[in-house]
Amino acid sequence: MTSPCPPSASGLPSTAQGFSTLQVQAGHHATTAVAAVPPIHQTAAYEFSSLAEAAGLFALRRDGIIYGRNANPTQQILEERVARLEGGASAVAVASGQAAVAVTVLALVGRGGHVVAAEQLYGGTIDLLQETLDDFGIGVTFVDQDDIAAWRDAITPRTRLLFAESVANPIAQVLDIRAVADVAHAAGVPLVIDNTVGTPHLIRPGEHGADFVVHSATKFLCGHGSSLGGVVVDQGSFDFGADPGRWPQFTAPYQRFGDMVLWQRFGRGHAFAALVKSKYVHDLGPSISPFNAWQILQGVETLDLRVSRQAQTALLLAEHLAQHPAVARVHHPGLTGNPWHALAERYLPRGVPSVFSFDLVGPEDDGAFERVASVLDALRVFRLVANIGDARSLVAHPASMTHSHLTAAQRAAAGISLHTVRVSAGLEDPADLIADLDQALLAALPAFPPRGVRKRHFAPA
Ligand code: PLP
Repeated sequence: MTSPCPPSASGLPSTAQGFSTLQVQAGHHATTAVAAVPPIHQTAAYEFSSLAEAAGLFALRRDGIIYGRNANPTQQILEERVARLEGGASAVAVASGQAAVAVTVLALVGRGGHVVAAEQLYGGTIDLLQETLDDFGIGVTFVDQDDIAAWRDAITPRTRLLFAESVANPIAQVLDIRAVADVAHAAGVPLVIDNTVGTPHLIRPGEHGADFVVHSATKFLCGHGSSLGGVVVDQGSFDFGADPGRWPQFTAPYQRFGDMVLWQRFGRGHAFAALVKSKYVHDLGPSISPFNAWQILQGVETLDLRVSRQAQTALLLAEHLAQHPAVARVHHPGLTGNPWHALAERYLPRGVPSVFSFDLVGPEDDGAFERVASVLDALRVFRLVANIGDARSLVAHPASMTHSHLTAAQRAAAGISLHTVRVSAGLEDPADLIADLDQALLAALPAFPPRGVRKRHFAPA
């Protein structure tokens, strides 16, 4: 029973409707005002104007939103924005970068299929490919991403995609995207690039042949370390219709939608997003929350400013560390002499990403962890955090953190030693960051006092 409406301030009933009805419906009108900033559509579901409309949406015959697990208007703005920034045709936003990679691989590679992936990938992606997806019958072969012949040799008739990062994390190896894309396309499969570290401000993999671009939006797109999210962009370049037998998920009748053929219904650049949303996000549920989509949208609005400033700061830090007696080597492709410097000049003319690493001096022995800990624990401005792309400057120890599940051989293949420290440069004053590194290295490594370190002065940016 609906309780009667209480009197308003005037003492009169405010409406003929009951209190419970008002409680859930009063004041909500479809268009009260046009918000200048994208609003957060904090709703789980959407109202249909008629049953006919609902039925059309459920059958994928009409475009629109059914339920928050598949889409949300705030999320759709984020999807369109990231797709445009990457120069792509469409995008799907999900709950995390890990989810973006997972749904991408699931949508492109069926059971019994195979992936060729760079051995330099982020540790969580390696975990996903070599363990979880392997459990479900998707095989993987890891190759040295610089060895173009190895990519070609690893492809089998079951291979359905090649996967790498544009700029790898943590060693910052720059991928020759065009060369790997050519190998993929010669084999009739798409190239998927994780552009989390690169960001579309510094590099757009689609311009170099990548067919799908994934992001951990948690990182630079969000930019403030506040929200998890992931995005996959379909560049619209890969023609699934050219070899229909190989891509039945797009070209064969889709039973759950009345035998609709997604390639016919949605076409190039959109069929992939339709499959990901209607099957993998729908069935597995890794949806992005409207609030997180909104937070990431706020971050995207300052992406170029942040990324440029962070790239400049990172180069200053790398130059400083490269002269430090306690540092054995710095992995930053902006430095001349770095093995990926020439590729950085070719692919990253706007600047090199602000995630890089350095190795402390010391033997690869049991004392390495303590030596690294004594430096990282002494830092006061840098934060020890398992994240990158934050406004704050962050450090991590890949061997005991992000890449701790890898074998010693896998870590070595990725260029990571027990002494490797990852840096993600933030937006603080560079002089404060350099002073922090110096005091931590000086306090923690008396065996390697930084004598002769050049004093550098930095004008405020
Ligand atoms: N890709 C890269 C390059 C990453 O660094 C990470 C996380 O560190 C991921 C994907 C996974 O993203 P998320 O943490 O948002 O799930």
